[in-house]
Amino acid sequence: MKANDFYFKKKYGQNFLKDDCIPNKIVRYSDIPDDTLVIEIGPGRGILTKALAMKAKQVLSYEIDTTLKDSLDLLQLQYPNVNVIYDDFLNRNVLDDIKDYTFQHLYVIANLPYYITTPIILKFITEQINVDRLIVMVQKEVGERFQAVPGNKQYSSITVFLNYYFHIKKLFDVNRGCFVPQPNVDSVIMLFERKETRLVLKDPEIFFQLVRDSFQFKRKTIRNNLRCYSLDIVEKVLKKHGFDLTSRAEEIPLEVFVDISNNLS
Ligand code: SAM
Repeated sequence: MKANDFYFKKKYGQNFLKDDCIPNKIVRYSDIPDDTLVIEIGPGRGILTKALAMKAKQVLSYEIDTTLKDSLDLLQLQYPNVNVIYDDFLNRNVLDDIKDYTFQHLYVIANLPYYITTPIILKFITEQINVDRLIVMVQKEVGERFQAVPGNKQYSSITVFLNYYFHIKKLFDVNRGCFVPQPNVDSVIMLFERKETRLVLKDPEIFFQLVRDSFQFKRKTIRNNLRCYSLDIVEKVLKKHGFDLTSRAEEIPLEVFVDISNNLS
């Protein structure tokens, strides 16, 4: 699709916000303190970037599509506190990119490209980028998955990982009509707030692997999905929490996965 001489690229998840209403609302809800560096993934033509630049000390945006450079150059002339890196965010060494900035708070605020929502959020965890908050626009059903509770069909390995690190809350809905081109789904703005105190985890690698394996085949029992683990240990911990080897991963709460993983470490 083409609008105002710009060809939207589906492969980059380009659905741009139509006006300032949602960007301003995102900024209001984000509660950005002074001295904050905001990381934005996918500025597009800069509609959210501009709202962020008016509030944050500095904005560092990553854009994969260099054909957006002219629009973003204009924005940077008006807001010198914006820096844009033209690259695939997933390939960046973010800790290196931010090492010369001085800031008290690190926020991520973005209307994410939907085809890589989960890898982007996981990158902040696996690369230990210590963000205070992420405020991100995601597809409605993805937002529901992030917040799902045990026993809910949407509850999955990503729910368990993210809830280990963050308090997760929906801020507000965004109707598909707010975008051009209009996507087939509605969106939500989600808030991820870093947990200051987390359950003690002896070995995060084992935890990640255990959770991934437990959910490998959603309809299978823990006994089947964890065949290669020490099942006597797994069973003992499950029993302590009122579960057994015939339970399915989608019933098991975060703290039980942590306990199993600590007993296997
Ligand atoms: N922020 C703009 C807005 O709200 O109107 C655009 C959001 S649009 C949903 C997603 C943006 O992410 C697009 O500008 C797209 O080119 C960019 N993008 C897609 N994949 C990317 C990647 N791997 N790294 C950086 N930017 C990416």
